[in-house]
Amino acid sequence: MSILVLGGAGYIGSHMVDRLVEKGEEKVVVVDSLVTGHRAAVHPDAIFYQGDLADQDFMRNVFTENPDIDAVIHFAAYSLVAESMEKPLKYFDNNTAGMVKLLEVMNEFGVKYIVFSSTAATYGLPDEIPIKETTPQRPINPYGESKLMMETIMKWSDQAYGIKFVPLRYFNVAGAKPDGSIGEDHGPETHLLPIILQVAQGVREKIMIFGNDYNTPDGTNVRDYVHPFDLADAHLLAVKYLREGNPSTAFNLGSSTGFSNLQILEAARKVTGKEIPAELADRRPGDPDTLIASSDKAREVLGWKPQFDDIEKIIASAWAWHSSHPNGYDDRG
Ligand code: UDP
Repeated sequence: MSILVLGGAGYIGSHMVDRLVEKGEEKVVVVDSLVTGHRAAVHPDAIFYQGDLADQDFMRNVFTENPDIDAVIHFAAYSLVAESMEKPLKYFDNNTAGMVKLLEVMNEFGVKYIVFSSTAATYGLPDEIPIKETTPQRPINPYGESKLMMETIMKWSDQAYGIKFVPLRYFNVAGAKPDGSIGEDHGPETHLLPIILQVAQGVREKIMIFGNDYNTPDGTNVRDYVHPFDLADAHLLAVKYLREGNPSTAFNLGSSTGFSNLQILEAARKVTGKEIPAELADRRPGDPDTLIASSDKAREVLGWKPQFDDIEKIIASAWAWHSSHPNGYDDRG
């Protein structure tokens, strides 16, 4: 039995692959188009295929050459809220339609398990904090909608073809492998912590904080941060859960603790010892006040225990990556 990781050259996917190899998994197969991923992020012991998961002949070849694959972990998606508002069809095509193409080939090859990256963005402006898996999902941007549609498509594919699935709804992912060898490298970078750390490095002049008039204690948005190694462990537990014959179900993955954008900035100043100039800017459209997960279900049902339970530990791991890779993977050519 082996696992296929789709999007294994991306930020979270590369940590998943690293974790699988380091945990002694005999064979790890990776597919990535390298449109946003980095070849250098993929552990050298993994078997790597470059291609698009929506290219069914390409995927047929991957499954034919690796008949022992019984489970797919799917990270390969576009994930920028602002871009999705401008280019919704790009998201519905790549994320949602791509899922249809993938499930067709999985069904052809009798691959019955899939664990995939869903998101807190499927909840939109939540009715309750902390957010539970049963909190109504009403996305307010095409990114969140594209992921919710993927969940729905999987629900019906489970019923018709018996493909069992676990959507893992991540909150804010931050941090890197603590030895600094792999980390977050988006082009362009839009996320809070990497930008703060680029300022600490001197690669950027300042961080713009988007809005301080939200309904939160200090007026800036509150988010729940989770480390990619803890996410990777949750994916492995979810694969185990499915292989044991359990029914399809979704889990939230977060630390269950909220930090405001200003608290993240302060913590980054402390961890890096740098001044990190910041300036207040207008609100960014589509940001809910507060997003905090209840991840009780993952802890109870999967037995998930996040190791990076301290925001300074998460920031220190991200800093190990950024301070040793000022230009990221440096493979943009
Ligand atoms: N943010 C910010 N300045 C930036 C980037 C992000 O103030 O340059 C804020 C953003 O408005 C949100 C929080 O940081 O409140 C987290 O945003 P990010 O893009 O990192 O993740 P998201 O919550 O969109 O997944």
